[in-house]
Amino acid sequence: MRDFSRDMSALALNTATLGHNVEGAGAGWSPERTIDACAERGYGGIVFWRREIGSRAAGIAAHARAAGLTVAGLCRAPFLVGPLAPRGRQAVMDDFHASIDMAAELGAPILTIVTGGVEPGTRGVAESLRLVADRVAEAAPYAAERDVRLALEPLNPVYGGNRSCLTTLRDALDICDALAAPNVGVAVDVYHVWWDTDLPRQLARAGGRILGHHLCDWLADTSDVLLDRGMMGDGVADLKTIRSAVEAAGYQGLCEVEIFSAGNWWKRDPAEVLDTIVTRFRSVC
Ligand code: ZN
Repeated sequence: MRDFSRDMSALALNTATLGHNVEGAGAGWSPERTIDACAERGYGGIVFWRREIGSRAAGIAAHARAAGLTVAGLCRAPFLVGPLAPRGRQAVMDDFHASIDMAAELGAPILTIVTGGVEPGTRGVAESLRLVADRVAEAAPYAAERDVRLALEPLNPVYGGNRSCLTTLRDALDICDALAAPNVGVAVDVYHVWWDTDLPRQLARAGGRILGHHLCDWLADTSDVLLDRGMMGDGVADLKTIRSAVEAAGYQGLCEVEIFSAGNWWKRDPAEVLDTIVTRFRSVC
């Protein structure tokens, strides 16, 4: 297992940690300012959200490269199914392709997929998961032509209804097995999988298909399951044990810190947040 106490090259910031995934949240730093602040502190990479990139992908990518930072990924594809997805299959696929194009222009090798919830008019998750598999299968060659890999991210089951019919690493790997597309894998976010006693077995099965590892913590007394994620070390997730299994499955990539925290971390000075991440990354991750 890599020793993060001495080496920060695997540390990446997901800019949602500064509120950049939600309009009006956080301190409103530009992508460039965020890149510079991460580079100053020795971060190895950064992961952006589409809403902060807009039409400036090439310029932001160049700024990151010049600062010595890897653009590790882009969040995210549109919801592919469920009540929050674009209306209609064609609208979903058009936006899916647009997100792949943006990842390619950014030079981001990974596009994260949050599937969306239960498709309107259906019940349970089976039909929704089938639609997800169909739509990812259709987009995978388009992404491969652009050197973009697609990371299916299972979300905590609490989001099953509206945000993610995909709730376990098992189901995510089942989709990967069914598709057998070389550029489709999974993202393992501790916030979503920490509770799963089957996780070790699923990680052992994942082989080389882990495309991302996301860090935060689950607060024992969380006040909001969407926007009250904890800083690493402040909660109950067994971060080191999970990372050990993720690395044993062959993952040696960046570990991105992704903390949605409207009431706490988004209200602080981003410099303090970035410094705290460094301390915790080196000690508890
Ligand atoms: Zn995540």
